[in-house]
Amino acid sequence: MQKIHHLIDGRPVVGRSGRTSPVFNPATGAQTGELDLADVSEVDTAVASAKAAFGDWRNISVAKRTRLMFRFRDLVDSNAEEIARRLTAEHGKVVSDARGEVARAIENIEYACGLAEHLKGDYNENASTGVDVHTAHRPLGVVVGITPFNFPAMVPLWMIPNAVACGNTFVLKPSEKDPSAPMLIAELFQEAGFPPGVLNVVHGDKVSVDRLLEHPDIKAVSFVGSTPIAKYVHRTASTNGKRVQALAGAKNHMVILPDADLDMAADAAVSAAYGSAGERCMAISVAVAVGGVGDGLVEAIRVRMEKLSIGSGDDPSSEMGPLVTREHRDKVAGYIGVGVDEGATVVVDGRDTEFEGDGFFIGTTLIDDVTTDMTVYRDEIFGPVLCVVRVDTYHEAVKLISDNPWGNGTAIFTRDGGAARRFQEDADAGMVGINVPIPVPVGYHSFGGWKDSLFGDTTMYGPEGFRFYTKPKVITTRWPDPAESTVNLGFPENH
Ligand code: NAD
Repeated sequence: MQKIHHLIDGRPVVGRSGRTSPVFNPATGAQTGELDLADVSEVDTAVASAKAAFGDWRNISVAKRTRLMFRFRDLVDSNAEEIARRLTAEHGKVVSDARGEVARAIENIEYACGLAEHLKGDYNENASTGVDVHTAHRPLGVVVGITPFNFPAMVPLWMIPNAVACGNTFVLKPSEKDPSAPMLIAELFQEAGFPPGVLNVVHGDKVSVDRLLEHPDIKAVSFVGSTPIAKYVHRTASTNGKRVQALAGAKNHMVILPDADLDMAADAAVSAAYGSAGERCMAISVAVAVGGVGDGLVEAIRVRMEKLSIGSGDDPSSEMGPLVTREHRDKVAGYIGVGVDEGATVVVDGRDTEFEGDGFFIGTTLIDDVTTDMTVYRDEIFGPVLCVVRVDTYHEAVKLISDNPWGNGTAIFTRDGGAARRFQEDADAGMVGINVPIPVPVGYHSFGGWKDSLFGDTTMYGPEGFRFYTKPKVITTRWPDPAESTVNLGFPENH
């Protein structure tokens, strides 16, 4: 069984707390690893390493930082297959999906390779007579990332490249469920030549998170995870005087107008609801069928579900893998039962699909005639369950999205440019897709939802990430008139 340790000051560090957590292969149900869980003193050691590294790192030239970032990018790229393999082995997602995660992760390193462009600041010459003003973007110090299980490679790389390129040092606390991919990324970061302590990894649970949220040497906290924990992290870290961005849960709606290309919409709904077993914060979990499109849509989705192949993520023919843990699989199954009890129409029941072995599998589920008072509508299920809500008008569809407490992503399917344009204005969510079901922004935009999908005022990666990880310093300069200078500059009289 693989033992997974912390990475502090550039070296693997075996845990001292005596506390560990099991890591499973969700496709087989077998325990494959044992993860050290940090205690307070181990967290403090990692923070001390990052603090010590900050002094030099902040002053290393932008040119050198950029070169290291390019090297890191190339190492992640050349190890993409191994990162993807680890993702599949511990998260369960199919390998094509895992490769996609690594590709999206690399985008963020590439953005950070060009960060010199942002760091150059602003300059006003002669703002007042003889007075110049410029803004410099300074790093914050030691910053922290606390990340979820569902994108164990990509989400840490939403944070680390920008933070480090801006001159900060970093402590990562990855999800305890699938820690091997972020560990490999941290090792590649060392191999690229970044100085020890610029990136540290501590594994842990609430004990380590709580210490990071209160530690006096931590300046900022980036969190991605479920809404209750995001609220807690935002409140606790803010109270302790830290800058915080806490990205949270979601219930993403996809609106299908009567004029939509139904085949295109059904393909999109199936891949966006069931891809990665629905364990994506941008997964579509509600299809809003407008004006009589419901029967055709439900049938088109149902037919496609029959063909979906579910199996181990390392089998190239699998299109959907297992859920991350046995407990999570059982929780998702419980929600389907609640949907039945509350009177929804379960068109396809994922609990009926049988699987061999002890993997954490469940089939795909389609629930029709869902109403907004039902638990399956109100809760984030975070599994392969798609609810269909039928409404008469576009206006009702938009109101559903506005009334929902979450506002991560949303999408519309239509052939009507005017309706689409109206939707991008009306949609009460941070990321909007027009005939694109999962509108995750490219690395040079930024990612984040509205309402209960984000606590804080900065979204993640891209230009907003840069803003989060720097503080502006404005320098106002006045020099005496050269005519009064003690140095003879050689000007002719009355120049
Ligand atoms: P989670 O909230 O359970 O865990 C996230 C992190 O918080 C982990 O590192 C975990 O160790 C830590 N944590 C868990 N319980 C804690 C506690 N009581 N105190 C302190 N720390 C704690 O989330 P998850 O199950 O790993 O991830 C799935 C959730 O993340 C979903 O709700 C999903 O929507 C959300 N998510 C959101 C985004 C986004 O960008 N908005 C992206 C990915 C995932």
